[in-house]
Amino acid sequence: MSHPFTRTLKLKVRTEAYGWLSAAAVEVNQVFNFCNEASWLAATRTDLKRKWLSGFDLCNLTSGAARYFERIGADTIQRVCTEYAQKRTAAKRRKLRWRVSRGARRSLGWVPFKAASLKRRGKALRFCGKTFRVFETHRLDGVKWKQGCFAQDAVGDWWLCLPVEYPAEPGVALKESVGIDLGLKDIAVTSDGERLECGRFYRGLEANIAQAQRRGHRRQAKRLCRRAARRRADALHKFSRRVVNQYQYIVVGDVSSQKLVKTRMAKAVLDSGWGMLKRLLQYKGEHAGRSVAVVSERNTTRDCSCCSAPTGPTGQDNLVVRHWRCPECGTEHDRDVNSAQNILRVGLRKRASVCGNGSSPDIIPLEPDTCVRARDGQGWWRTAA
Ligand SMILES: [Zn+2]
Repeated sequence: MSHPFTRTLKLKVRTEAYGWLSAAAVEVNQVFNFCNEASWLAATRTDLKRKWLSGFDLCNLTSGAARYFERIGADTIQRVCTEYAQKRTAAKRRKLRWRVSRGARRSLGWVPFKAASLKRRGKALRFCGKTFRVFETHRLDGVKWKQGCFAQDAVGDWWLCLPVEYPAEPGVALKESVGIDLGLKDIAVTSDGERLECGRFYRGLEANIAQAQRRGHRRQAKRLCRRAARRRADALHKFSRRVVNQYQYIVVGDVSSQKLVKTRMAKAVLDSGWGMLKRLLQYKGEHAGRSVAVVSERNTTRDCSCCSAPTGPTGQDNLVVRHWRCPECGTEHDRDVNSAQNILRVGLRKRASVCGNGSSPDIIPLEPDTCVRARDGQGWWRTAA
């Protein structure tokens, strides 16, 4: 149960190092592109020597190359080789896209390294013979890293990214279970009525972004988009943390495509919010020893959570109906809270049907019409409909 879990510390690098990092990123691109070419050539040979080059092979091919580079060292070259091989394997291709160092289609800078090459020196850091300063250095106190990277974002700022492992701390939550409905107006609503508003991440920024784009201030526009994305990530982190701290069993509704019709917001924005929230609930839940299940949200808006009569609003036409009263039992409902309660019911029913005899509450039964995630010891798995 107690997997350590990984969180990436991101610290902003002070601007004086940007020039050096950008130059180092060009060297990284050269190594990456060499890997790309070498593995393409090896994979397309027509004789018996044809093979898929592994990260190990690429490390061998590039050994000793460090002396031809001004900035990056052997460990960065090795990291690039192994990362390249992993990416190529994941993409199932013989070749990846080239990393571009100049021009409008430039790749965002990336300089990976191994643990030993980044050293703490008081308030500063040493890397490849260069002294770096980052903001919020205190966050590195007592932290042990295995490897990491310097990464550039779309705005052009550089960040020091360090994946750090924390031990799992399973505990017991105060409340038993919760259902979560993912929606448009609010990204998420719990069966207890707690809401995560959607619009507020962009509120006040939309107009500014549009204005910056109109005036051709691309950097400013990107900066504002980054601010909105951060606000959203921050809100999702806080919301998921609250939920995981409070509840032992968490049931999330799987979003149907119907919900995406009739919205002015970009689908990608909603998608990424929902996806991120599910991911956060899953890894935080796993870390805290909670069970998280994803169930089909079919009919959860239509049915009354009190008497289960199908008296609620149906179809897209009734998307505007936020409150309604059930004619069967007379209960007043908030549309989203009602569906969250129904999602919770579906989840509880599922759990009851497997762990009636005291078996693990982590295992959730699979039914052909639902998507369920459960833990099998290695991680999360999913069965599609
Ligand atoms: Zn009713």
